[in-house]
Amino acid sequence: MFSDTHFHFHYLVENNSQEFGTEILEQMAKNRIYFGLDIGTKCSDLAERAQILENCLEEIPDVNLQSKLKKSIFFSSGIWPDPDSIKERESCLEELRDSIEEFKESSSCFSSHLAAIGEGGIDHHWNPSGPDGRNESDFDKEMFFGEKELFEMQLELAKELDLPFIVHSRDGFEDTVDVLRAANYNRGIIHCFSYGLSEAKTFLDLGWYLAFGGATTYTKKAKMDELIELLQYVPKDRILLETDSPYLAPVPMRGSENNPLLIKYTYEFISEKIGLSVDKLNKIVDDNCSELFKLKK
Ligand SMILES: [Zn+2]
Repeated sequence: MFSDTHFHFHYLVENNSQEFGTEILEQMAKNRIYFGLDIGTKCSDLAERAQILENCLEEIPDVNLQSKLKKSIFFSSGIWPDPDSIKERESCLEELRDSIEEFKESSSCFSSHLAAIGEGGIDHHWNPSGPDGRNESDFDKEMFFGEKELFEMQLELAKELDLPFIVHSRDGFEDTVDVLRAANYNRGIIHCFSYGLSEAKTFLDLGWYLAFGGATTYTKKAKMDELIELLQYVPKDRILLETDSPYLAPVPMRGSENNPLLIKYTYEFISEKIGLSVDKLNKIVDDNCSELFKLKK
């Protein structure tokens, strides 16, 4: 239960401590987490992220909880569209490829748990002081082209490796869809879905799953009817939930650091809006994770 298809675990450890990471993992195992996906953003961060998680996991005293986590936690690897990665996209993609190959051959307890490529995609939200440091002045025609090309190159890699893709798409619906159509690979998740109903229909028709995060719980009263219509429109076999930890903690924890345990608030919020019990929504999301990631359990 309480699957979480998107978190950045190593930031929780970096922002706090290894003990904090261990505590979070232990609680996730006690809550019987079914599936958790640790998300990559840099071309060569996979091995290090897995190592940080494994270090925390090994500190959990109960070996049954450890083995539960070893079966439930998976990793993605991909390149977030920051300006440097866009400029160096050819070499970045080579590095991504190499780091994936190395990881699969490594002695990590997660070496067989690379489950997706991403997060990658299109971001036209300009916030130079935000964690992503994106600034419109860094983007000219060549950079817009490069961003799309970096996204398409990663979709090609996902296709080649037969893995789902984690799409990051913010304020860039049209460019995102252009690339998806060009690559003709439509398998995976539109993460932290932040568009409206007509955009949802386009992604769903192409074959994507939509993942809703903590920001869904911030919806203003005036927009609530629209959100409910959207949530009710999404077919039950295409809905997923995520935290994007450490970002975007759901209400009532909005403003604090997010972590995968807080996902229960998003489950509570969405299950109420679509008129299902939390248990039923848990089961639906777990089943969708099994289907999308071909989990053998
Ligand atoms: Zn993310």
